[in-house]
Amino acid sequence: MTAALLPPRVLKTAKVKITTKCNRSCDFCIFADGAHGENMSPELFSAILDRLKTVPFRQLHINGGEPTVHRGFPDLSRLARARLPDTVMVLGTNAITLARNQRLLNVTREVYDQVLIGCDDEHGNYDEVHEVVPVLRDAGKTVVVNSVLEAITSDRLDQLAALCAETGAIHVTNHVHHIDVGQAENPLGGLCARYLDQHLMVEIDGSCYRCFNAMAKDDSEFTVWDDDFAQKVFAPRTQHYRFCLKCHEYTDSGHAVVPAPAGGA
Ligand code: SF4
Repeated sequence: MTAALLPPRVLKTAKVKITTKCNRSCDFCIFADGAHGENMSPELFSAILDRLKTVPFRQLHINGGEPTVHRGFPDLSRLARARLPDTVMVLGTNAITLARNQRLLNVTREVYDQVLIGCDDEHGNYDEVHEVVPVLRDAGKTVVVNSVLEAITSDRLDQLAALCAETGAIHVTNHVHHIDVGQAENPLGGLCARYLDQHLMVEIDGSCYRCFNAMAKDDSEFTVWDDDFAQKVFAPRTQHYRFCLKCHEYTDSGHAVVPAPAGGA
């Protein structure tokens, strides 16, 4: 196969972390800094949307921290919807603010196509999730409830499964990422095959990672300020991130470069 015959690459998801503030302080969280976090400026958010318009991509995830505690959440959400009308809009939230603030719930119903909600003992949001999920489902939103298995009892899992079955939401479970609980380091042979999923995460300072599990700023490969941003999004990867050593999701591609060169390893 020659390079000319390869299908064009499309970024599946771009995740923009608009804040590192959160209304919870989950032990396992690697992305937020409680009340001490920072909000992304509207100017940077607008610049990120400009950059994203230069690459083919399907879904925009608005995340944090807890994105709904950013005071500009309604304006940023509407701006993204207006500037990227063909993009699937996804909100990652713990739903606590949405249950308490009708205005923010209305914005969510107006702007977002999908809502991903973390729910377990750490999030401490069972009541809010039971309140918000039916409302979002009635509005026709795709809702995914995600529980971290290390932080939930089987009773609670059953209750969430029942809620999701009743409302048509999707319930998934996951493991904590990147928490060093004494596990052996990954041997890190070939580069991680998960890179081929083509996820881009943009931090609140505009630094970029081509992995959703990125947890440290030191490994950023490029920023939204780079003129050749679009090329860098799809450039082959040749190095592991330093946090891949402790990542539960490491999957050896067997290749020293991903995507693998056409026609061979
Ligand atoms: S090992 Fe984990 S952190 Fe590293 S690229 Fe794969 S999914 Fe991302």
